[in-house]
Amino acid sequence: MEKVFRNYNDIDVNAAVREHYRKMRERQTFEYVQRMHRKYLKFNKPMDLWEAMDHLNDLIDVSDPDLDLPNVQHLIQSAEAIRSDNRPDWMQLVGLIHDLGKVMFLWGSDEDGTSQNEQWGMVGDVFVVGCALPESCVYPEFNKLNPDMSDSRYNSELGIYEEHCGLDNLTLAWGHDEYLYQVLKHHKDNLIPEAGMVMIRYHSFYPWHSGGSYTSLLCAKDKEYLNWIRDFNKYDLYTKCNKIYDLNEIKDYYLPIANKYLGTGPIFW
Ligand code: FE
Ligand code: FE
Repeated sequence: MEKVFRNYNDIDVNAAVREHYRKMRERQTFEYVQRMHRKYLKFNKPMDLWEAMDHLNDLIDVSDPDLDLPNVQHLIQSAEAIRSDNRPDWMQLVGLIHDLGKVMFLWGSDEDGTSQNEQWGMVGDVFVVGCALPESCVYPEFNKLNPDMSDSRYNSELGIYEEHCGLDNLTLAWGHDEYLYQVLKHHKDNLIPEAGMVMIRYHSFYPWHSGGSYTSLLCAKDKEYLNWIRDFNKYDLYTKCNKIYDLNEIKDYYLPIANKYLGTGPIFW
């Protein structure tokens, strides 16, 4: 039988995934996201890329119904699939690092949803905060639990935003995508092309890239973003398998690429 990805109806996997999304929808408010930006976007913790990769050996993403392996395995699987399709070296690197923002669990907390036990502020499909939640969110029945949805500043189609202001002007639910994007944007040696940075920043934004929502907030440029994301998403989603890689073995190949686009010094988290 062909494997079905992102099946949210499997009863076993699902109690935990559903509970994750209930908390995420209920607690990711506009105010919460502002607070997380102030708290986590400090860029004052130096850590080598490979050390960060190593730490993801200790984390299993609770929101992913398809994978029960340490996250670093998913990163290697994505990178190897991009590599075997002979895609550009920077895109292979993006595959390898796209979920590295999850290292925030090292300095995260249960209250913030950024820990091993509570991941609702770190992983899972994200949505825009500051405007109405669309029905295309996974488990849309949880939308009404979000306090912002009964706040007139935030519960209209446009909310706090201007029509067609564009993706880059929206605030998304707090998680690993935005965290890694901001860390790399502030990294002085970063040479990852714009397409790669977009892949990192928006890969979890399913209600937009797969659900087709938020059309009134998008600008012309976002059409290009969508092509980049859809191209990347097949490797993020369809490469999940149970093959186990050794980080040290693949490092010989990826190290020169990482050095080329990120330099050799530490990254400031
Ligand atoms: Fe991710
Ligand atoms: Fe991923």
